[in-house]
Amino acid sequence: MIPVSAYRDAKVAVFGLGRAGLAAVRALAAGGADVLADDDDVARRDAAESAGAHATKLVDSDWAGVEALVLSPGVPLHHPEPHPVVRAARDADVEILGEVELLGRSLRPDGGAATTGPRLVGITGTNGKSTATALLGHLLDDAGVTVQVGGNLGTAALDLEPVGDRGIYVLEMSSYQLDLTSRVVFDVAALLNITPDHLDRHGGMDGYVAAKRRIFSGQTNSCTAVIAVDDKITAAVFDDLAAGGAQKLIAVSAERPVDDGVFVRDGVLVDGLDRGERDVATLSEIETLPGRHNWQNAAVAYAVARALGIEPARAAQGLATYPGLAHRQELVGRKSGVRFVNDSKATNVTATAQALGCYDAIYWIAGGRAKDDDLSELAPYFDRVRHAFLIGEASASFAEALDGQVAATQCGTLEAAVAAAAGRAVRDGEEDAAVLLSPACASFDQFRDFEARGDAFRTLVAALPDDLNAERDRCDA
Ligand code: ADP
Repeated sequence: MIPVSAYRDAKVAVFGLGRAGLAAVRALAAGGADVLADDDDVARRDAAESAGAHATKLVDSDWAGVEALVLSPGVPLHHPEPHPVVRAARDADVEILGEVELLGRSLRPDGGAATTGPRLVGITGTNGKSTATALLGHLLDDAGVTVQVGGNLGTAALDLEPVGDRGIYVLEMSSYQLDLTSRVVFDVAALLNITPDHLDRHGGMDGYVAAKRRIFSGQTNSCTAVIAVDDKITAAVFDDLAAGGAQKLIAVSAERPVDDGVFVRDGVLVDGLDRGERDVATLSEIETLPGRHNWQNAAVAYAVARALGIEPARAAQGLATYPGLAHRQELVGRKSGVRFVNDSKATNVTATAQALGCYDAIYWIAGGRAKDDDLSELAPYFDRVRHAFLIGEASASFAEALDGQVAATQCGTLEAAVAAAAGRAVRDGEEDAAVLLSPACASFDQFRDFEARGDAFRTLVAALPDDLNAERDRCDA
């Protein structure tokens, strides 16, 4: 845990006591603040009390003397409309911030980039954040750097262990978390890609892009911005920052050569950062980074590692030993020649498109709570999909969207879909068949979260007989 002493003896409110909120309570209490904590969930309020806070109903509280409101990233700040606690804090002129901002203030009370002490790295983008963050953590660790990895991924920022003066914090930053930053400066900040997502929470595309751009706020010439310029929006952000000239810039592309940057050519990662170009790794041979989208993640993680001073050969060595992350195109089993791939983390259409592009004979399990019924982005991959097995709330709308293009069955549950997909894959007998859970939907209609959905898939696959011929195609009779 990283104690926050910037609020010693001051009153601080914390609303939303999930992972980040509870971490903030502990860190503020350890730093000597008087913490008021609130959440709709009684068990969480109890947990906050045990961590040293006073549980209270913040909307009805007297805000006089409260210095700051630490908000959980899940709580609406502006759209669709501000949460009543947000309104109450604003009415009382109380500053609203997130736990990463607190970490920044704890590391550098005077603000700004690191001149001494640990460095702070932030990674954002619509897709690939967790992969790029975990991969960068691995590259740094492999190179012998003391590194802590967290934020939106895994451990909350304030729950990380102190890394000492020469260490590095690598934080995955969601757009919600970025909305709650103000003075924190990332010594190296990276942007992977931007496609429409969470637009309801950001009041449209402009708000979403603005939130993502905050990762570069306050950067000066000792800082570096790493930007994958493969989509129009990120390319425009790159041009804008280049025109501004505030920080060093590194362009990255998984698709084309870029000047003085890092890019991928024919599956090979090319480093153009020092004079000339040097091939550093054959990404197409790294099993834990399948597909072009992962090449983008790898190129960004590599570029950040280089910006942090890691030598090309060391970083390349780390790429080759990356162990992969659960729920992201994770191979969870192989039975009767059929691969079972858990891509439960693909909660939007763009993420699913990446996975569909990686396999040739796909038995595709999709559905859940749809963010978007428009599946046209997936059409280029439909010839690879042998059959779709639809689950959850989106079943009917997805069936309609696929009608005439992909044979589909509405299976209802994941259990029925796994059985049906396995049965059909083995019956068709195609070489290289893959049963792929890549839902293009959120999980909340049937599961606690995408992890619970992926775990359920893994369990269901493990329970299938090793000889799939014994399995009947249950929901497709
Ligand atoms: P995030 O943390 O941003 O949600 P993850 O690394 O967890 O991203 O990957 C989630 C899913 O997004 C993956 O399963 C994959 O299908 C897709 N994905 C990963 N990286 C990219 C990328 N660079 N571009 C587009 N899609 C990607």
